[in-house]
Amino acid sequence: MAMVITLDGPAGAGKSTVARALARRLSCLYLDTGAMYRALTVKAMDHGLSMDDPEAIGELAASTEIGLVPDPDAMRVTVDGEDVTQRIRSPEVSRSVSYVARVPEVRAGMVRLQRKLGEGSCVVAEGRDMGTVVFPQADLKVYLEASARERATRRAKDLADAGHAVDVQVLEAEIRQRDHLDSTRDVAPLAAASDAVRVVTDNLTADEVVDRILDLLQAAGLPRHTGS
Ligand code: C5P
Repeated sequence: MAMVITLDGPAGAGKSTVARALARRLSCLYLDTGAMYRALTVKAMDHGLSMDDPEAIGELAASTEIGLVPDPDAMRVTVDGEDVTQRIRSPEVSRSVSYVARVPEVRAGMVRLQRKLGEGSCVVAEGRDMGTVVFPQADLKVYLEASARERATRRAKDLADAGHAVDVQVLEAEIRQRDHLDSTRDVAPLAAASDAVRVVTDNLTADEVVDRILDLLQAAGLPRHTGS
């Protein structure tokens, strides 16, 4: 059945782990919209574009095809047919992506694509503007929060698992900087929708957050299983 659940929040609040697990539990499509902005950032970096050149970034976006390929474990992302799933997670991309994501022309194209991907299906959509801009009529909106320290610690662990050496303090500073850029940009800034349920995840495991969201679905009279 068609159902949209949005998960927004700052970097490292646990959105990806929770969204993936939730999508699996519900047999829904997992829509990782951050991966789309990251993929375009990879191309902008490959083309040597300056992050201070929104015009060039906007033009690049217009001639770029981003693809999302559902995968049993997560999701693969392509740029003009090339698989960049691994590359989008590099620290360099994390540092640059907010500059790409603040360009209005970039966002307009992404929003169109995200709505198309979500059309008529059951989708768990994760990002910064899912509940506010992309899916304002979502069936359930969740906004995940956690302290910057906690978020940096989690990211450090993820990066270490993926083979990237990181300093938690540096990471925390970068996360704060990214949150600042994401929440102060002119178009679709990071924000909780007025009808979103806020969940603070500091002392919760991902499974506990998923259970809480499943409870919210039930309380809203929505299915905890889509049966598809
Ligand atoms: O979620 P993730 O950390 O992968 O997102 C990377 C970046 O992409 C964010 O910091 C933000 O700049 C941008 N983004 C966005 N809108 C979304 C999803 C991500 O602006 N819906």
